[in-house]
Order: sequence, then structure tokens, then C-alpha cells
Amino acid sequence: MNIHQYYPVDIVNGPGTRCTLFVAGCEHQCPGCYNKSTWRLNSGVPMTLEMEERLIHDLNDCRIPRQGLSLSGGDPLHPANVADVLRLVKRVRRQCHGKDIWLWTGYTLAQLTAQQQQVVAEIDVLIDGKFVAALRDPMLPWRGSSNQVIHYLR
Ligand code: SF4
Repeated sequence: MNIHQYYPVDIVNGPGTRCTLFVAGCEHQCPGCYNKSTWRLNSGVPMTLEMEERLIHDLNDCRIPRQGLSLSGGDPLHPANVADVLRLVKRVRRQCHGKDIWLWTGYTLAQLTAQQQQVVAEIDVLIDGKFVAALRDPMLPWRGSSNQVIHYLR
């Protein structure tokens, strides 16, 4: 899996102070997407073990308490990303106690494959659905358009 950005301290993408990872690869091609540079799977840079270790360390760093991890992109549930994202969220569950995991995807919950649902089973909150420019609402928390749904899973 490739990634585009990692923010070790982020107060924009989800509640509280968070670590946020933007992954590469998205097949939804939403008109008006503000993250087109992340569409290609081979854009960005490879996610390394060092990066993963840093993320785990940051989540557990009590000098700057983080509420949790946000996964966005791109699409963390792109079929080519699912195996790596599943491994990552399982590791966060195991090693970062008390941290929540939020994940943004362009698929709807109803569209998810069995493999994608394995990721959903590990996370706390899923924000689903494509960005629809005609339904854009900047007042909505954590989502760009009103068709997108915040699913509180735990
Ligand atoms: S799902 Fe998100 S990243 Fe993908 S095209 Fe739509 S708005 Fe862009």
C-alpha cells in the first residue's frame, strides 16, 4: 500500500487530537473530489514498517494524548489496500488500548465485500459514500456531502 500524508497531530479529521493517515488509491472518481492526486494506487510513497512503528508510537505517546487514528485517502477500503489496512487496524486494536479508529470510504456500508467488512469489524466509526458535489454541505461535521453517513459501530 502507498500513502500520501501522515499527520502525527491532527485536530481536523475526526474528534479530538488524532493521528491521521491518507492512503493512495481510489476508484470512485467523484466529480469535485479535492484529493484527486490520491486516486492512483502507485501515487505517494510506500507504507513502511518504520512508518507503522511511528504511528503506533505516536498513538501511545502520552505527552500529546491522541483520541485515536483516522484513516482516509484515497480510499482505505480500495480492494488493493484492504489487506494492509486490516493488518494495521488489528495492530492498533492490539497495541493502542483505548484509541478509537475512524475510517472514510467512498463505498457505502451496504456495498462492502466480505473482506472490506473485516476491516469494519475492527473500527469504531465508518463514514461512507461518495462525495456528491450537489449535496455538498460545509456545515456537516466529518463529511463533505449529505448523502454520506456516519456509522457509529461501537
Ligand atoms: S471517494 Fe473521496 S478520494 Fe475518492 S474520488 Fe471520492 S471524494 Fe475523492
